[in-house]
Amino acid sequence: MAKHGFTTNILHCDRRGSVEHGAVHKPIHTSSQYAYADSRELAAVFQGKSGYTYARQGTPTTDALEKKITLMEGGISSLTFSTGMAALSALFTTLLRAGDHLVSSQYIFGNTNSLFGTLQLLGIEITLVDPTDAAAVAAAIKPNTRMVFTETIANPGTQVADLEGIGEICLANNLVLVVDNTLTSPWLFQPRKVGATFVMNSLSKHIGGHAHALGGSLTDTGLFDWSTYPNILDVYKKGPTAGWGMTQIKKKGLRDMGGTLAADAAHRISVGAETLSLRLDKICSNAMALASFLSTHPKVAKVSYPGLASHPQHARADKLFQGRFSMLLGVELAAGVDPFEFLNKLEVVILATHVGDTRTLALPAAHTIYYEMGPDLRAQMGIADGLIRVSVGIEEEQDLLADFNQALAAC
Ligand SMILES: *Cc1c(COP(=O)(O)O)cnc(C)c1O
Repeated sequence: MAKHGFTTNILHCDRRGSVEHGAVHKPIHTSSQYAYADSRELAAVFQGKSGYTYARQGTPTTDALEKKITLMEGGISSLTFSTGMAALSALFTTLLRAGDHLVSSQYIFGNTNSLFGTLQLLGIEITLVDPTDAAAVAAAIKPNTRMVFTETIANPGTQVADLEGIGEICLANNLVLVVDNTLTSPWLFQPRKVGATFVMNSLSKHIGGHAHALGGSLTDTGLFDWSTYPNILDVYKKGPTAGWGMTQIKKKGLRDMGGTLAADAAHRISVGAETLSLRLDKICSNAMALASFLSTHPKVAKVSYPGLASHPQHARADKLFQGRFSMLLGVELAAGVDPFEFLNKLEVVILATHVGDTRTLALPAAHTIYYEMGPDLRAQMGIADGLIRVSVGIEEEQDLLADFNQALAAC
């Protein structure tokens, strides 16, 4: 399989796994239980033999999607969850304990920030640092630090983490590195290349791609040796040490918290993934055109997009993501142009939360998704009051530019 390209692998993955009636898509297995003719076989599956028991721990449909994601990320195994947040919750609560320390990027998705608040209440220490500067990550490391977390391109500020530098620091200090790859997806970037231990993707975004299914995934890159990690329960210290962390997430995080991906959603995400490369290439070229157009418009004060030469991490993004800068734009309008009025004038662009859809979406970030966190935290995360977050879709480029142009003209 690996000898083929990214999209060829995705398209032919199900068929090459275990073909059922020649189906090219893995069927949607809705059974919540799996029966065995031989009671010894049932016992063997409970004791670790591969197979299915109860659908909370996975089905043939989620397994097929997990294989596909493992191929896309170049890892050794993957696990799927009902949402991206379920994946992150399962990971952190399974592998961290009270008294442990996590170093995280300060530029993170708002709900991840909220989850970190919960972890702090459970006794886990968290230090937020600027991930664009690997030295800031190094300076935050303490004797009880277990893990480092960062996104690739931050939502919504578009800061680009020093992923290579952070990877080197984690390697030198034997720390687990978790990379949220949602904004880039494995088509633009594989975190395994910078030494990440786990790759998280919100499948609700680019990979599913059509805003019709929620899901999340974790991929184990196999690069971390868990034999000296303190929080692995004895019962999960089986098989190669590279897989222990993921085993514990599956056995504790997925099973205990039950954030299982439904088979129907797994199927939709799996079909969506077939066109990831096509969609994302179009999204990247549309976003670049829109960013260039807006950055010279007199009614626009500032455009944050890693593809613009003016972006502080443009060179780094260019190198890491090979000249493709994904879908997210941060737009601040000129003084006197009301962002709400502007948004209301858009005709093609949809006013909605969510990112990574085929359709272009926009919203006033500080007043919606970042409202609850208050002005101080927003300032720390670099979210200006008038910031408009745009997630670019696959519409014809001229339609998008014309829509933004007419809305600006009408303000
Ligand atoms: C959306 C998102 C998540 C959470 O994913 P859900 O599937 O919505 O739970 C996590 N990280 C980033 C960067 C996201 O954009």
